[in-house]
Amino acid sequence: MNATTTETTLQGAPLTSDLAHALLAGHAIVTVRNTRTGNRFTYRIRQCDAMPELFFVAVLTGSENEQDFTYLGTIRKEHYTHGRKSRIAHTAQSAQAFAWFWTHRNILPACVEVWHTGRCLRCGRTLTVPESIASGLGSECSKKVSHHTRAAA
Ligand SMILES: [Zn+2]
Repeated sequence: MNATTTETTLQGAPLTSDLAHALLAGHAIVTVRNTRTGNRFTYRIRQCDAMPELFFVAVLTGSENEQDFTYLGTIRKEHYTHGRKSRIAHTAQSAQAFAWFWTHRNILPACVEVWHTGRCLRCGRTLTVPESIASGLGSECSKKVSHHTRAAA
């Protein structure tokens, strides 16, 4: 632990006990980022309609932030299990990162941030990249907006 560790903590962190509870609210989408390694994954935790104690966990694997989720596993009675039918191996980094995150969600180290999604202020799309959430613009829209600003100046 040094001074830089606390400085790198952005607005998505630390995960409060309230937010840990909110992960099972029904339609959670969160980006988990390790600021030390730079790794990040976006997970969706969705409640099963027929069995409310069951939750499906998926990881974002494509560029469409609302659709491109791949099934990862299930949470039942707060216990996470990697899905046997998942197309993602339980040894994959995204799978191991979620298993670790779920176990440590109440005691996360300062280098792990949890971000809510945001909406792009230009096109309204869901934002999952921490820098985009912080700036309010997706990367493409960010270029267009700064272009506008420069052109107008
Ligand atoms: Zn946009």
